[in-house]
Amino acid sequence: SLFEYAPAPESRSVVDIAPSYGLFIDGEFTDAADGKVFKTVSPSSEEVLAEVAQAGAADVDRAVRAARKAFEKWSALPGSERAKYLFRIARIIQERSRELAVLETLDNGKPIKETRDADLPLVAAHFFYYAGWADKLDHAGYGPNPRPLGVAGQVIPWNFPLLMLAWKIAPALATGNTVVLKPAETTPLSALFFADICRQAGLPKGVVNILTGYGDAGAALVEHPDVNKVAFTGSTAVGKKIARHVAGTDKKVTLELGGKGANIVFDDAPVDQAVEGIVNGIFFNQGQVCCAGSRLLVQESLHDELLDSLKRRLSTLRLGDPLDKNTDIGAINSAEQLARITALADTGEAEGAERWSPACELPSAGYWFAPTLFTNVTQAHTVARDEIFGPVLSVLTFRTPDEAVAKANNSQYGLSAGIWTEKGSRILAVAGKLRAGVVWANTFNKFDPTSPFGGYKESGFGREGGRHGLEGYLDV
Ligand code: NAD
Repeated sequence: SLFEYAPAPESRSVVDIAPSYGLFIDGEFTDAADGKVFKTVSPSSEEVLAEVAQAGAADVDRAVRAARKAFEKWSALPGSERAKYLFRIARIIQERSRELAVLETLDNGKPIKETRDADLPLVAAHFFYYAGWADKLDHAGYGPNPRPLGVAGQVIPWNFPLLMLAWKIAPALATGNTVVLKPAETTPLSALFFADICRQAGLPKGVVNILTGYGDAGAALVEHPDVNKVAFTGSTAVGKKIARHVAGTDKKVTLELGGKGANIVFDDAPVDQAVEGIVNGIFFNQGQVCCAGSRLLVQESLHDELLDSLKRRLSTLRLGDPLDKNTDIGAINSAEQLARITALADTGEAEGAERWSPACELPSAGYWFAPTLFTNVTQAHTVARDEIFGPVLSVLTFRTPDEAVAKANNSQYGLSAGIWTEKGSRILAVAGKLRAGVVWANTFNKFDPTSPFGGYKESGFGREGGRHGLEGYLDV
């Protein structure tokens, strides 16, 4: 199918990484105004991949001006014309997806199995999906002429660099907005390759601008007075800062922040299937997933059997070279993230939770963390409350469905949850009581461009994906 294009696994020779890259402003690659650069490294080997221009406030201003100028013409195009560009971008992404999958794996550290079979197909699917909306908007559902907001300032994290870019750019362009996007500092490359795809697709200059750089560039973008819409995915701490800034302006904002997802397993669950879902829920992308199922809530009567199966399964996971198509667990994205995970896991041990990892040898270079389980966890433990954003699962127990719901909802976050049971009526009853933006039943980490995604509570507000994702970019 259109959405399941899976390129063959490949070696890094399929991607040609230049020694240095510029910012992408007004259709051209250019140096930062002050000439600053930074290096991006491969987290699995610590090899320097490239030197990248580091945007500052002057570059943000230039990019926002280019986007403002482009907005006049872009927003005036009929939706059917904007759709053509988006379809073209989607097709080029499919054509270049081997190259992009390898690039993303090199820059991020995640297994090629994931970039090839999850990230890239979903990236293309998002562009196809929103391309399909562009020519429907003029008269379907929103009354005549729903209005784009203007220039969107978008800031994204490093865990799904291209996919987060797609979630941000596809709906913005479909609705007639123009974009200045800042990728995360540890994963700048795929956004720059995307800039090249925009050129290849003949996208008018200034419609998409990419500024590589650090948090200061993100802040300058968010705070630029000529930005009309801010879309942010990242930590709750930075999200709150952005919300405070936006509160004093007329900018619109959507925030996708952290999570501490509960994966609830009832004692009638199909155990083998649940084990696969638990593993996928917390070890997909080394657990560096905002909607990860990082809290396992297991019914007391199933606890011992489930833990035995889970430990057996974890002992079969292969950790190592992310470009090897058999690798299940890749590298942690950065030394900073590894330090954060290590500190939180050490806290779990110090507070008395029981720590377990399968025997596995960690490579000597790069940033690695073994899959880790914590049992004997209580709700007061740090590992049950804080987002670890790493391959660490905290196991808690419950006796009744009401207790499961109460424990699942006992979190500052409310992004995702999972339910495992054979009983359909229980799925509906429990899902309705969970304060989480996404609830999966007998599966986990399933994404689809037609479905809105977003959080309750401190996981953020606004929705991305689906028809709801358009509303964040329109005045209707
Ligand atoms: P982060 O908030 O530090 O960084 C995210 C992005 O914001 C980066 O591009 C960074 O350069 C930029 N940034 C940093 N300070 C900024 C500021 N003051 N103003 C504007 N931009 C700024 O987060 P991170 O450590 O890169 O990513 C991990 C976090 O992101 C986790 O907490 C995770 O839960 C969250 N996340 C959420 C989702 C979601 O959809 N809800 C998806 C992915 C990641």
